[in-house]
Amino acid sequence: MPKRWISQIAVLAAWLVAALLLGLGFGGTGWWLAGALALYLAHTLRNVYLLDRVLEGGKRRVPMFETRGLWAEVFGRVARLQGKARNRKKKYHRLLREVRESTGALSDGGIILDAAHEIVWFNPAATRLLGLDPARDIGNRIDNLVRHPDFVSYLAGPRAEPVVVPSPVEEGGWLAVQLIPYGQEQHLAIVRDVTREHMLETTRRDFVANASHELRSPLTVVSGYLDSLSDADDVPGGWSKPIAEMRRQVARMTQILRDLIELTRLEAAEARAPQTFVDVCGMLRILTNDFPPSDDRPRLRLRLETDAALLGSESELHSIFFNLISNAMRFTPAQGTVDVVWRADADGAVFEVVDTGIGIPEEQIPRITERFYRVDPGRSRATGGTGLGLAIVKHALQRHGATLSIESREGEGSTFSCRFPAARVALRSGAAQAAG
Ligand code: ADP
Repeated sequence: MPKRWISQIAVLAAWLVAALLLGLGFGGTGWWLAGALALYLAHTLRNVYLLDRVLEGGKRRVPMFETRGLWAEVFGRVARLQGKARNRKKKYHRLLREVRESTGALSDGGIILDAAHEIVWFNPAATRLLGLDPARDIGNRIDNLVRHPDFVSYLAGPRAEPVVVPSPVEEGGWLAVQLIPYGQEQHLAIVRDVTREHMLETTRRDFVANASHELRSPLTVVSGYLDSLSDADDVPGGWSKPIAEMRRQVARMTQILRDLIELTRLEAAEARAPQTFVDVCGMLRILTNDFPPSDDRPRLRLRLETDAALLGSESELHSIFFNLISNAMRFTPAQGTVDVVWRADADGAVFEVVDTGIGIPEEQIPRITERFYRVDPGRSRATGGTGLGLAIVKHALQRHGATLSIESREGEGSTFSCRFPAARVALRSGAAQAAG
């Protein structure tokens, strides 16, 4: 038994012994004992009352009437607990103040959204960037305040990279918004002013587009003269080889310009492709017919496992399919095979090109969708490549909400898979169809 309890029992025993002795001396032992017990009870009740007040929070400080024994120790312990709680509270207040001050000093906007995308809290930068008002906008849905369609679709299915939308407050301003999920379906929206980056990007894009357009006209003229020269009978014989080489190079430059213009067009377009009905099976049959069987190229097989169509941009889907098929044909030896597969499942549809070609070194796979990145520039050029095909594929897929995955082994072959979301797939019968 703890010492404090022994001493408390000893105090009670001393009271009772004293009452007993007084009772023996003066008579009326029972009364003396009852009196002693009543006094002890009163003392205990008073301490219980004080403890109750202290625990209720009525008294800020614990009264220290007793310096020794059980009650002194109980009050001492309560005082220590109160001190600790006060310190903890002070610490939390300080932390809260620091969080408020630091989020207040942030130049990026921070908005806490609940599961229904209603605003729970935001910092002063969010007030400035989005024109939010704490009195009006707490509890409001964020898509009532930022109504741009790109933002609304981003909110429905957040991606890793932020969405860039025009500022609702500043004319000509641009904001990048990124949603970071946390807790129970809550999100932290980070809002950044990207007006300067957007302007620089637009200038760069316009420059590339303008330069490409400007270069096209002189190239057409040069190409025309070269065509005439190659057909002319009065050109000295020694010129036929240089003229043929010049024609090849001009054709290559024309193709590069065409791809550059296509790429800048894709970059400048709205984030989402239109939703035109595209008969994928028909398109793939025509496309694969452009590569009839021949001894100097691999065998191309088309496997249509679904008759699903896509809702998207016909020219962009054509560009995606053509680039991937022609890459597979160019990087696969004549004895190899290229399988083009179109299939659907519960999550959407997949366009896949599987080749048994030269493959890609593992460390270079993440880089091959960059502009002008080639594993072997010589081979790419020799087979008529511009180094822009996969960059176009990546952008066009993004605009369709689709993803590209690449698996490859050097010397064994590569698989390029494009996964289209169910929202972009238009199923007609769902029945599998034999290869066309
Ligand atoms: P290119 O015009 O050079 O083909 P792309 O952007 O289409 O440009 O492809 C970039 C590079 O990726 C190619 O140069 C090639 O090195 C590699 N690559 C693309 N597809 C394949 C493939 N099916 N097999 C092997 N390598 C490939």
